[in-house]
Amino acid sequence: MAIHLLHGCAREWAGGQQIFRNIAPEAALRSYLRARSSPYRAGPPSGPGDILTIDDSTRAAGHAAALARECGHHVRLFVNAHQVETGEPYFFSLLNACLDARREARVSYGGEVYDLGQGIDVFRRAAKAVLSALTPEAACSHVAEIGELLNCSAYALEEHAQTLSRRELLNLVDMGVTIENHGRSHQDIDSLDDDVLRRDVAQTRDWLGAQLNVHAMEYALPFGRTVRHRSMIGELAEIVYLVGPTSSQVGRNVWTRIEITPELCRVAAA
Ligand SMILES: [Zn+2]
Repeated sequence: MAIHLLHGCAREWAGGQQIFRNIAPEAALRSYLRARSSPYRAGPPSGPGDILTIDDSTRAAGHAAALARECGHHVRLFVNAHQVETGEPYFFSLLNACLDARREARVSYGGEVYDLGQGIDVFRRAAKAVLSALTPEAACSHVAEIGELLNCSAYALEEHAQTLSRRELLNLVDMGVTIENHGRSHQDIDSLDDDVLRRDVAQTRDWLGAQLNVHAMEYALPFGRTVRHRSMIGELAEIVYLVGPTSSQVGRNVWTRIEITPELCRVAAA
C-alpha cells in the first residue's frame, strides 16, 4: 500500500520555471493514470491498494483531481478555505512568479546576499521560511517587497496557479472528488499555538461542511510537516497526513505520503 501526493498538473508545462514547481505535466499524469494496473481506492489508509491525495486549492490541483476521476481513480483533494473564499493566490505562487520575473542577478535579503542564478533555490528556501510563518495578508505584502528587491517585470499569474472558486469545487464534488481539509490558509502550523491550530482545523472543517456540504474527516498538514505539534496532531482529525520519503503509518491515525511529481517530471523530460 502506498499513499501518493500530487499538487496538480498543467497542460502548458515548462520545466525549469519556478511557477511549475511541484506541478506535473498534464500529458505525463494522464499516461500514468491510464497505465496503472489497479485504480487508486477510496477508504481509510489502512488496507490494501494505493491512495491518491492532491493538496492545495489551485486550478492545477483541481485539474489533476478531475483527470484522476476521468481515468477511474478515487482521489482526495485537500483545500484551504481562505484562498477559495477570497480568490487570493497562495504566497508561494506569487513568490514563484516573482522569481521567474526577476531582473536582478543577486539580492540582499535578511542580512545575506543571495546569487539568483545557481543559488536561486537557496534564496527561495530563505524567503519561504519567512513567508510560511506569516498570515496570508502579511505574506502577500512581504512578497510584494521581495518583488521590489528583485526588480520584477510585470507578470500575470499563470492560470494553473490561480485559485479554485467555490463553484469549481462544487463541480469537483459532483465528479466524485473527495474534498478534505488542508487548514484555513496554508500558514505553517509551527507558527500557531496548539489552541489556534485546533480552531484552524475545526473551523476549516465546518467551512467545508457549510460551503460544499462535505464531511471532511481527514487533514493534510500545510507543508507536510511539524516539529512543534508532533505529539498532538493525531487529535486534529480522524486521519492526518504528513509528507515523507516513504508512505507509512507514523502514529495511531497519522500517515506519511510520497510526492510522485518528480517521477512524472522525469518521465516527461526523458
Ligand atoms: Zn499544500
